[in-house]
Amino acid sequence: MYRLFYRQVIPVLLRFQRLRENMGVFREIQWKVDSLVLPCASPNHVSIREGDGERCVGCDDLVSAGDLEYRITLPGGRGLSFHGGCFGFWEAEMLRRGWLRQPVTRKHLE
Ligand SMILES: [Zn+2]
Repeated sequence: MYRLFYRQVIPVLLRFQRLRENMGVFREIQWKVDSLVLPCASPNHVSIREGDGERCVGCDDLVSAGDLEYRITLPGGRGLSFHGGCFGFWEAEMLRRGWLRQPVTRKHLE
C-alpha cells in the first residue's frame, strides 16, 4: 500500500505541481505580452547558448550555467534573454495571436 503510494501517487502529484508552476509562468508571459512588457515584434534571430547569469525576461529568474539561454535580437538591435521554456511560451503566444507567422529559426552557438 505504501509502496503504491510512493511509486504511483507521488510522481503524479509532483507532475501536477510542476504543471501548476508552469501555468503560472505561462500566464505571467501572456500578461507581459498583453501589457507590451515583452516584445510583440518578430526577432531578427534567436541564438542558443549556455546561460551565464542573464535575467530571463519571461520569468525574471536568472538563466544560470547549465540552463540554455535563448537570446533574441529585435529589429533595432535590442537583445533579450529567455530560458528555453519561457521562450517557447512567448513564441507560442505570439503564434496564437498571429503576431508571428512561423516559429523563429534558432541558431545554436558553440
Ligand atoms: Zn524564464
